[in-house]
Amino acid sequence: MENKIYLDNAATTKVRPEVVETMLPYFTEQYGNPSSVYEFASQSKIAVDEAREAIAKSINADKPDIYFTSGGTEADNWAIVATAEAYKDKGNHIITSKFEHHAVLHTCEYLERRGYEVTYIDVNENGIIDLDQLKNEIRPTTILITIMFANNEIGTIQPIKEIGQIAKDNNVLFHTDAVQAYTHLDIDVKDLNIDMLSASAHKLKGPKGIGFLYIRKGIKNRSFIHGGAQERRRRAGTENVPSIMGFAKAVEINMATIKERTEKELELRNILMKRVLSEVPFTRLNGDKNRRLSNNLNFSFQFIEGESLLIMLDMKNICASSGSACTSGALDPSHVLLSIGLPHEIAHGSLRLTLCEENTEEEINYTVDMIKEIVQKLRDMSPLYEDFIKKQNRR
Ligand code: PLP
Repeated sequence: MENKIYLDNAATTKVRPEVVETMLPYFTEQYGNPSSVYEFASQSKIAVDEAREAIAKSINADKPDIYFTSGGTEADNWAIVATAEAYKDKGNHIITSKFEHHAVLHTCEYLERRGYEVTYIDVNENGIIDLDQLKNEIRPTTILITIMFANNEIGTIQPIKEIGQIAKDNNVLFHTDAVQAYTHLDIDVKDLNIDMLSASAHKLKGPKGIGFLYIRKGIKNRSFIHGGAQERRRRAGTENVPSIMGFAKAVEINMATIKERTEKELELRNILMKRVLSEVPFTRLNGDKNRRLSNNLNFSFQFIEGESLLIMLDMKNICASSGSACTSGALDPSHVLLSIGLPHEIAHGSLRLTLCEENTEEEINYTVDMIKEIVQKLRDMSPLYEDFIKKQNRR
């Protein structure tokens, strides 16, 4: 195919033209600093206020509880570090899961180095956290539970309402990283007992470098960035007005189209899933088949390296992702895939495909054809596969 086929929407998304259009005047016409006193600048202040209102509405939050950040990473860092500091008189114990995004895991590790205790609870083979273990791990010193809404690699959706209830019953705060779930699933922070929630615009066809942290009123949460009175003194720095406006526009469109988008994604995803699982032997789907985001598929192909598959798909103009991360020159298998019990060699042969409603059936079918062809090519070069086939033939 001549045109690029983009199947990496969990990594980032294409910004909607309406979003770009909304942003542009805030660079060149309405560029006033919301903190300035004159009338021209107050237009920026009003615009930011309206954007905050629209975003708050999308999760049934109250407007003053939305704090703009530079993205999901900052929101996660803020929620965890500032809560730990503010509640250190109550305790020093945090509970999270083994398959969180590194924005959460590395922040928890940072706190461990500063004397906090962190429990990393297990994830079952379907990619759902263990609620019984969560309940059992709560101590009198537990101050925070931070569990993601939907996983970024395998798309599995967590029992957020139950987690929120457990936290509430035990008088522990609950933060959720909803970076992958926001505007893909209906979220009502009040109904779900969520105290803090992180989100990011670039995962939902908005601009990069803008996100928010929802902090329920009444929570003692310290300011995270110091130096100004912005965001009610909690997050200093001149507001990124164009991006805030683009974020709100992307949210408005996504919330209005959630049903159609989900249906379209499911239709395409099911074609892709059925064809890959039935036409490529020795393949498994990672994560629960049903309790997952409508646009996410994650496969492991036995006897191959996911990185080689990615490079060869790239040569066919297909953008996808594998779970492996390059650390100190070596490829480590994804911590998410290891957390659901995959052995290293299977985790290494993984591929994540994340669609959007703009993909076409033709693109999906072409992708499956290419996966089939490439996986077979790679297996034909694999001594492990050769051994396996020889053994099978001897039986
Ligand atoms: N949390 C999750 C679950 C993510 O998928 C990502 C991005 O990949 C982040 C946090 C970080 O968000 P950002 O890129 O906006 O910093």
